[in-house]
Amino acid sequence: MEHHILKARYGICDDNLSSLSQDAKDYALMKGISQRTLDLPKDCRVPLSFCLLPSFFSEVYFNKVYKLQTYINSILLKVSFSKEILMECLSNTIEADEFTHNIFKIYEAVENKEQTVMGIIRSDYLLHADSDEKVTGIKQVENNTISASFGGLAPTIKELHEFILERLGQKGFDHKLPLNESCKDIAKGIVSAWDHYECQNAIVLFVVEDETLNISDQRGLEYAILDIENKIEVMRCTFKELRKAACLKENKLYVKDKEVAVVYYRTGYVPDQYEAEDWEIRLLMEQSHAIKCPSAGLHLAGTKKVQAYLTRPGVLEKYVESNIADEIREVFANQYSLEMGSDGDEAIKMAIENPEKFVLKPEREGGGNNLYGTEIKEFLENIKSSEERNAYILMERINPPSIPNCIIQRNQPPEITNVIAELGIFGVVLGNKKNTYVNEFAGHLLRSKKADSDECGIAAGFGALDSPYLD
Ligand code: ADP
Ligand code: MG
Repeated sequence: MEHHILKARYGICDDNLSSLSQDAKDYALMKGISQRTLDLPKDCRVPLSFCLLPSFFSEVYFNKVYKLQTYINSILLKVSFSKEILMECLSNTIEADEFTHNIFKIYEAVENKEQTVMGIIRSDYLLHADSDEKVTGIKQVENNTISASFGGLAPTIKELHEFILERLGQKGFDHKLPLNESCKDIAKGIVSAWDHYECQNAIVLFVVEDETLNISDQRGLEYAILDIENKIEVMRCTFKELRKAACLKENKLYVKDKEVAVVYYRTGYVPDQYEAEDWEIRLLMEQSHAIKCPSAGLHLAGTKKVQAYLTRPGVLEKYVESNIADEIREVFANQYSLEMGSDGDEAIKMAIENPEKFVLKPEREGGGNNLYGTEIKEFLENIKSSEERNAYILMERINPPSIPNCIIQRNQPPEITNVIAELGIFGVVLGNKKNTYVNEFAGHLLRSKKADSDECGIAAGFGALDSPYLD
């Protein structure tokens, strides 16, 4: 079926598929849609997984969530400064989950300091379809407030798709592929944070993993920063390097004797990325005047517990006008906390009775952590009398439609298959408790996964980079 559709629509068939796939891989490598891999020497790059063609995506729903992003930015920024709300959302999680506890301790250590904070936020969405695959809405999957990735490469995927569509003799698609300047827009956000710090010699620090695989995405942002302001030095350091190189002088952060204006985390979002001493480094940086992207508070505002809190009746109205609150609520899926107590008991009962209607999420980022279907039932039956359940969120399962595409992966033949597309909308925000200095939409990202796969993280190996063809 998928083969027929791609043949009818684009003339893709067995005769031309392998040469198209090779052309696309060469284009990807030439333009930097690539990554490092641990199985090859350090200088080698391989193509990231990507879709050969842009995926159809409803224009109405694309525009709908695009318009919501600046409101979501400002809501998450406000939540990041509210200890009361973070406590309300996370007090039980902190008891059950050491990682969240550690971030919260850092938050508390600096809660009385005046902080200007930067957010590079990506809100992810799936279209929701009824049982006939007719699209009836769009639902938010999650908000990412730390290390949100692929903004550096998303515009290049669009270019790759233009190249392939042209090669296939397609015409009149220009206005169907929406403008995407995520790389420039995110870089602009970082430069505005650097400007705000008001020290011409200060650097931008990228805090990176010991081995960065997604290097092209990160370098893309770095070079875009330099294109905007070539005075800026971008320094990449691991936590390990920072243990030796970072210090505070009169609350200013110095790394290798250079003052730091902006600390941008591309690591630190999962427990494995920290050794015990690294928490001291994160605290040290948090205590400094440098603008953190994100602060501990904004990191916590991206938790699934906060996401669930925002779905409660009346909560959005505290942050935005009621017509906007209504629009945002329309894109929320139902979410239930599983905390000890009668509401939590009720939610657990509901999930055990109908596990296929839900997704069970721990307080973790990076993909591959969620439970689905019968796993939910077994898991909840095991932990229902334990405090452990406090650290989970139960979410209504979204039913995304599937669309035919062709997945290209390194060392694999091209695979024509049905995919599910997940849209990420980027936002950039800069502000403190009283003022917001920057609040912008910053482009988008489409990632697709095989229709029979539950998860979508590309770094985690589940997804393929994609771009939307508005429909
Ligand atoms: P992570 O922080 O690990 O990325 P997500 O909340 O993004 O966690 O979930 C990972 C993936 O699981 C998503 O990319 C999406 O494909 C799928 N997923 C998450 N929530 C739902 C849901 N409510 N319904 C259907 N699929 C979901
Ligand atoms: Mg995700």
